[in-house]
Amino acid sequence: FDSPGTAAVRTARSQPAIPAVLGAELTVPLVTGERVPYANFDHAASTPCLAQVRDGIDELLPWYASVHRGAGFGSQVTTKVYERARRIVGEFVGARRGDDVIFTRNTTDSFNLLARALPKHTAVVQFDTEHHAALLPWRGPYVSRLATPESVADALSAVDSALASSPVGPRLLVLSAASNVTGELWPIRELSAVARKHGARVALDAAQLVAHRPVDMTEFDVDYLVFSGHKLYAPFGAGALIGRADWLRAAPPYLAGGGASKQVRAEAGTLHVSWQDGAQRHEAGSPNVVGVHAIAIACATLSRHWTAIERHERELTHRLRAGLDTVPGLRRLALFTPERAGLGVISCGIAGTDPGLLACALSAEHGIGVRVGAFCAHLATRRLLDDQTEGRAALRVSIGLGTTEEQVDRLVAGLRGLVRNGP
Ligand code: PLP
Repeated sequence: FDSPGTAAVRTARSQPAIPAVLGAELTVPLVTGERVPYANFDHAASTPCLAQVRDGIDELLPWYASVHRGAGFGSQVTTKVYERARRIVGEFVGARRGDDVIFTRNTTDSFNLLARALPKHTAVVQFDTEHHAALLPWRGPYVSRLATPESVADALSAVDSALASSPVGPRLLVLSAASNVTGELWPIRELSAVARKHGARVALDAAQLVAHRPVDMTEFDVDYLVFSGHKLYAPFGAGALIGRADWLRAAPPYLAGGGASKQVRAEAGTLHVSWQDGAQRHEAGSPNVVGVHAIAIACATLSRHWTAIERHERELTHRLRAGLDTVPGLRRLALFTPERAGLGVISCGIAGTDPGLLACALSAEHGIGVRVGAFCAHLATRRLLDDQTEGRAALRVSIGLGTTEEQVDRLVAGLRGLVRNGP
């Protein structure tokens, strides 16, 4: 018996080109009433679903049954699929032997879980550049938020001095792998080396990176890694926290309930609960098997295609940057000086033009979807914008597997026309 998704995993092995995503044939109405193919430039927010993921979900749905609880064949299949997903995800991120792979709802949920599992008085160090999912869960007097660094040297020395002056006890450096504002890649290895010097653990926000480059916790030398399925070409609703088991297993369950509890007894009106020791300790309630299965198929698929994916994205990013640089008044934002290499995520300040109006016109007149705002990274985005000339919102474009050269050229031509003639 092949459990659902096996076929999808096998096909992934035999296909050399980049994997196909759903929605390539979609058309959208313009203000003129004409319909044009949709050009999605918001992959940094959510990615479309892979065709293989859809096929794998189709295979699983007829077996839909409860995980870890039922004795029937459907439950056995579903449990097997769920536990196989843990193994696939662990391998995908280069987890170490003994690490827990905990399924959550998304990156935000994963960081909140980790924040609750920290030993008392853990000193947390991070930059204020982080996405709010990584910035906001840590509270209290032991949290140091460092100003957004301008260079790698600044970043390394700021972390070094913050950890050197943090109180004795457990320490955690929280880091992004890639910025969701500028797409720049953070110097993870260098920063984790500084953390190690001070005996600190490292938690990595890989939400932006996982769909675009291979990740390896061992090579990065990080202790925890989090991501969301909906940024990995799988549907919404499932994510993961992978990392060292000791703090996670010593912590009270993230949610109390069935699945997390091993045994419950009542004695003289008092409940005595023993909690699960492994990942299930933090997975109370019926889990999102379909979401988790989708993530596993996405991992299996992407990991067979990295060379083709990187080439596709590198070429398109180059074309996109070159094109955007020809738009009058447009300035690409960068955290670091000099700008660091990055993913196909580009935010721009546009002097004298409202980016909100531009985005509406790109949609209504060209069938192009972009994002405008501060991207849940308010401190970083607002620091990078010149609020005198560019206002308080940036325009972000981000590419992915479904992006084509024609779409990039359409976006650049659309922006040039709108900036020249007004939205
Ligand atoms: N971290 C980064 C770098 C992100 O880009 C995002 C989403 O935009 C998140 C965290 C939060 O992800 P989610 O909303 O899936 O929890």
